Amino acid sequence: MKQHTVIKVWVDTDVCLAHYLCVHEAPRVFEEREGAVSVHIKPEADTQLLRDESENLFWAAAICPVSAIKLKLDTGEVIDGDSEIIKQFIACQRRT
Ligand code: SF4
Repeated sequence: MKQHTVIKVWVDTDVCLAHYLCVHEAPRVFEEREGAVSVHIKPEADTQLLRDESENLFWAAAICPVSAIKLKLDTGEVIDGDSEIIKQFIACQRRT
């Protein structure tokens, strides 16, 4: 499977449950803020960091139970936990 690279990330704050599972998967990108109603993306999470964190971001999107995490890939495609690319990623990880 081709390794996809993430160049942008955002969270659908209308559906985010603010329980921070994603922070455990990608702590360099996501952070919990006291009193917030959704997870936050760290201001220092620039494109290079997102590229470096692509695999962890795939995991974060995969474990998010409401598919709130949106990832834009270097192909221009926007994906979330419901996307076929994420499902294939998980299937590949299980095989290795
Ligand atoms: S795992 Fe999903 S629902 Fe939970 S805090 Fe992260 S983005 Fe929000």
